[in-house]
Amino acid sequence: MSPRDGNDFPLSVKRKLAARVGYRCSFPNCSKPTVGPVLSTPDGVHMVGRACRIESAAPGGPRFNSAMTPLQRRSIANGIWCCNVHADIIDGDLGTFSVLTLREWKRIAEIIAYDRIDSSHAIVERPHTLVQLSDAIVFEAVWCGMNVESCLMTFEILSFVYGDLGKIDRFIHNYNSFQETKRYVVIESSGYGRQLSEPPVLEDIEDRKVISLIVKERTDFGDPSRAADARLTFTDWGMDLDVSTNEGWITGKRAVIQSVQMLLGSYRGQWGIDPDFGSYLFLYYRDHHTDHDLLQRLIKLEISRMTFAPDASSLLSLEPSIPISTVKWVEGVTIRGHSSHLLGIDLHLYFTDNTYFSDRISVPASMQTNSGAT
Ligand SMILES: [Zn+2]
Repeated sequence: MSPRDGNDFPLSVKRKLAARVGYRCSFPNCSKPTVGPVLSTPDGVHMVGRACRIESAAPGGPRFNSAMTPLQRRSIANGIWCCNVHADIIDGDLGTFSVLTLREWKRIAEIIAYDRIDSSHAIVERPHTLVQLSDAIVFEAVWCGMNVESCLMTFEILSFVYGDLGKIDRFIHNYNSFQETKRYVVIESSGYGRQLSEPPVLEDIEDRKVISLIVKERTDFGDPSRAADARLTFTDWGMDLDVSTNEGWITGKRAVIQSVQMLLGSYRGQWGIDPDFGSYLFLYYRDHHTDHDLLQRLIKLEISRMTFAPDASSLLSLEPSIPISTVKWVEGVTIRGHSSHLLGIDLHLYFTDNTYFSDRISVPASMQTNSGAT
């Protein structure tokens, strides 16, 4: 990015971004110092880090948000300081990080930097996320690290929402007998998931349970131009079909939102002919409706799964197909309230044509509402 393009961070912003993390990289578990001397001169300073944009300055760049003004793009709120290696990864969108993920990493890097200068500051914060492994395991974890080149993600397991360590052991042990479509991981904070390329590794490291996952590069995103056509969105399901409602034809990204609504409103497993159709929303609501925050995160996890996890045996198609493959990641899910077992949910999705789209949906949150009307 040329410094003269009018969108570059001012020097004062770059200095503050770097200083607020003690001139160390903000990427989880990196913390590499990014400044030092040039040894051959008495006054030279060598910098090996830079300010990355959380939301890109240019259309087509990672996490570009057309609604932002140039002033917002240059503001300190839109920057995160990283070493050159991790800056290349973030600016190159190699790991597909959501805005929320980068903001969280920045926030935690600043807290860690504060802890370094004030040892009495006892709050130790780490980047948390829910992680789903295959269909039946969901755990609370801390991001330990990521190697984008080797597609390796590492998490410390804190506690289980579904499943347990024994279930992970069995998944690893029986990995080869699982259908390929069941070998996947979903990362709630990032709002996306990936197929695994080999069995996970579970290790004890200094009393911590650490799981390492090697994932496949995502190559099967829906064509962005097709996201604007409901007819083609539904062809993704193997069905040449428009979505018809009382309001008339629904097209474009609203049709994708409509698909999410339909999937959330269908209980996964209720259709014997297509057991992967639908979602676990009813299960999550039944088990966790008193914990608003956890329920919201579980719903985000479930919608994130739909962006990449294919239906193994679709009623609508013999080939595995991905329900909402034109969504790159789920940026946000907010429960706006529930009444009579209907959940109002605000969705904030980032599409493969690098634009956001938000809408509100309303879904039945229990089987009674879904089937009890008859
Ligand atoms: Zn780094």
